[in-house]
Amino acid sequence: MSICYIGLGSNLGDSIAYLDSAISALHSNQSIKKIIVSNFYRSKPHGPQDQPDYINAVARFETKLTPYALLSLLQKIEQDNDRKRDGTHWGARTLDLDLLLYGDAIIETESLIVPHPYLCERSFVLYPLQELEPDIVFPNGVLLKECLSKLPVDDLKLIER
Ligand code: ADP
Ligand code: MG
Repeated sequence: MSICYIGLGSNLGDSIAYLDSAISALHSNQSIKKIIVSNFYRSKPHGPQDQPDYINAVARFETKLTPYALLSLLQKIEQDNDRKRDGTHWGARTLDLDLLLYGDAIIETESLIVPHPYLCERSFVLYPLQELEPDIVFPNGVLLKECLSKLPVDDLKLIER
């Protein structure tokens, strides 16, 4: 079993419902165990600004799936949740599932980069991740706390549910 973290994001349609739907899809998959999910947060878009705010969260789970099988599963869940790939990088989307961490693995291939390249730079990733695992150390030896200390909360707003 490997401990994995994924980032969930949505800024099109009923974003909270899309995140909930992704979490139920994970729960109904036999290969995904011991799922825990952070609070949901609202954040301003990165990249193009003329798009709605994002809803973001982070989930932790255990799996025996390989990193590539897991990436395929995440992409299938995106597609089942109305994700359209029009090639716009950072454009609006109903559901974005990014593999943030896969155990201590460091993977740098064309289709998969783990840890996720923006892991240490995005408040909408680091704050939810901190809720789940405040003392986590990334595979490069850097502490989550070190990354967080360099990052303002900026526009992140906790969603009360
Ligand atoms: P982004 O999340 O960067 O806005 P997409 O969700 O459209 O863009 O993903 C584009 C590609 O990123 C995917 O086809 C996938 O192969 C690749 N990718 C590389 N590393 C990762 C990762 N850690 N998690 C998810 N996708 C990844
Ligand atoms: Mg993505």
